[in-house]
Amino acid sequence: MNMQAEVRNKYRAVIGLEVHVQLLTNSKIFCGDETQFGVAPNTQLSVISLAHPGTLPKLNKRALEYAIRMGLACQSEISRLNIFDRKNYFYPDLPKGYQITQDRTPICRGGMVEVTLNDGRPVSIRLNRIHLEEDAGKSIHVEGEPDTLVDFNRAGMPLIEIVTEPVINTSEAAAAFLTEIRKLVRYLGISDGNMEEGSLRCDANVSIMPVNATAFGNKVEIKNMNSFRHVQRAIDVEVERQITLAERGERIISETRTFDADSGKSYSMRVKEELNDYRYFPDPDLSPVEVTEEWLSSVRASMPELPQALFHKFTTNYKLPAYDARILTESRQIASYFQEVCRHTTNYKGVSNWIMGPVKACLNELTSVEVVFPVKPVILAELIQLVDTGKLSFSVASQQVFPVLIKQSGDSALAVAQQLNVIQESNHDQLLPVIDEVLKAFPDKIAEYKKGKKGLKAMFIGEVMKRTRGKADPKITDELITRKLQEV
Ligand code: ADP
Ligand code: MG
Repeated sequence: MNMQAEVRNKYRAVIGLEVHVQLLTNSKIFCGDETQFGVAPNTQLSVISLAHPGTLPKLNKRALEYAIRMGLACQSEISRLNIFDRKNYFYPDLPKGYQITQDRTPICRGGMVEVTLNDGRPVSIRLNRIHLEEDAGKSIHVEGEPDTLVDFNRAGMPLIEIVTEPVINTSEAAAAFLTEIRKLVRYLGISDGNMEEGSLRCDANVSIMPVNATAFGNKVEIKNMNSFRHVQRAIDVEVERQITLAERGERIISETRTFDADSGKSYSMRVKEELNDYRYFPDPDLSPVEVTEEWLSSVRASMPELPQALFHKFTTNYKLPAYDARILTESRQIASYFQEVCRHTTNYKGVSNWIMGPVKACLNELTSVEVVFPVKPVILAELIQLVDTGKLSFSVASQQVFPVLIKQSGDSALAVAQQLNVIQESNHDQLLPVIDEVLKAFPDKIAEYKKGKKGLKAMFIGEVMKRTRGKADPKITDELITRKLQEV
C-alpha cells in the first residue's frame, strides 16, 4: 500500500459482507441426496437435484434448526412463519432455472456479532439478516479445453447466508468478523467452516465516502476470495482503487469484480447499474413452515455455551488473563478440555499455560470438528501437579514425559516419569554429596566467589545438574549451594 495517509484519511471505507455457510446436514436441503465433500462428480444427485419435471422439494428440518441456532447465537429475531421463494436466473449449474431462497421472510432478522480487533478493542457488527437457501452446482473450466464441465453434487446443498449491515469500516474488522463467524458455526456444530473447501464463502461490498459525507457511495461487490487474508487484501486494494478514482474526479460505478490473489488486482465481471430483477415469488411447491414456540425452546435448550460466555467465565471464575481466555475459547474442544483439566487442579493458570503451549503445539488442526486430545484431563492435571510439587521440571515434563503420555494415553504421569527415570532429586541426602563433590572440584572458583563474583553460583548449580543428569531440583540445589558457600 503506498497511498499517502493524508489522501487516505479524507475518506471513510464502508463495507458490508455476505457470507455463505454450508450446513453440516446429512442430506441436502430439499431432498435426501448425500452431502459428503470431495466425492466423485455427479454421484450425489437425484431427480430432485437435477430438477426433473414433476419432482417436488421437501424441506430438511435440520437445516432450519441449524439456521435458528446461528440466529440465537447472534441475538437475531427468529421468524415464526417461513416462506421459501424462487429467485429466478439462468446459470448452467442451476438446473431448475431458479434458486430456492428466502426473500421476504428470512429465518433470522437483525442481530449482531461481537468481534475483537488486534489491539483488543471490541466492535459489534450489526446483521441485516440470515436466510436459508440452496447451493447451485459447480461449473468446472478445464485449462486449455473448450468445454465446461458441470458437477451437480453441490446443487441443493443447504446454505445460510449471513448479511451484515454496511457498518464495517476496516478490512481488519471484516477479517475479524469472518474469523468470528467461523468460530461460531464450529461451536454450534452447524458447519465445518472450511474456506478452502468452500463451506465458508464471502462476498465483500465496498464503497467509500468523504469522512464528513452522510450519503453512501456506490458499492462494488468483490467475489472469489478464498481465504481470510485474501478478503482483507481485496478490500484494501478496492478501497485504494476507489479513492484513486475519486481523487481523479471519476465516478465509481456499481459493479461486481473478481479478485485475483496472485496479482493482487481485481477485474470487472459485470456492471449492475440497474437493479437485478430476480422476480422473486413464493415457491408454490413448498408450504410455509411455522417455527413453533416449542420447537424454538428446544433449540434454545440445546445451545452450547458460546465463546463470549466462556471468555467471561474464564476471566472471572478461573481468573485468567484476557489473552489466555481468548486463545482457550478459540474452539469449543479446547475450552471444554481446559474446564475438564481444571476439575482436577486449582492451578488454572498452569493449565492454561500447558494448553497454550505443549497441548496446542501438538494439535495440528485445533479447530477441526472432532478433536479428541489423547492425554486425559486427569493425567494432564497430574503432570501439572508433579511440576508444581517440584518432582519434575517444566522442561522435562513437557519435552520428555508429555510426548510419551500422548502415545501411551492410559498411563499415569508419575508412572511415565518413573519409567523415564526423570523424577527430580529433591532429597537433601542424595543432593548434598554431589554438591560437596562439585565444590571440592573448583577451589579457585570458590575463592573468586568469596571475592564477590556471585554470578559463579549459576555455574555450580549447572555442574550439579550435569552430574545428576538434570534430575536435581534447581530451587533446592540453589538453596543448598547458597548455604554451603556461606559455610566454606
Ligand atoms: P443489493 O440490493 O445490491 O443486494 P443490499 O442492500 O441487499 O444490496 O446489500 C447487500 C450487501 O451490501 C449488504 O451486506 C450491505 O451491508 C452491503 N451494502 C449496501 N450498501 C452498501 C454500500 N454503500 N457500501 C458498502 N456496502 C454496502
Ligand atoms: Mg440484496
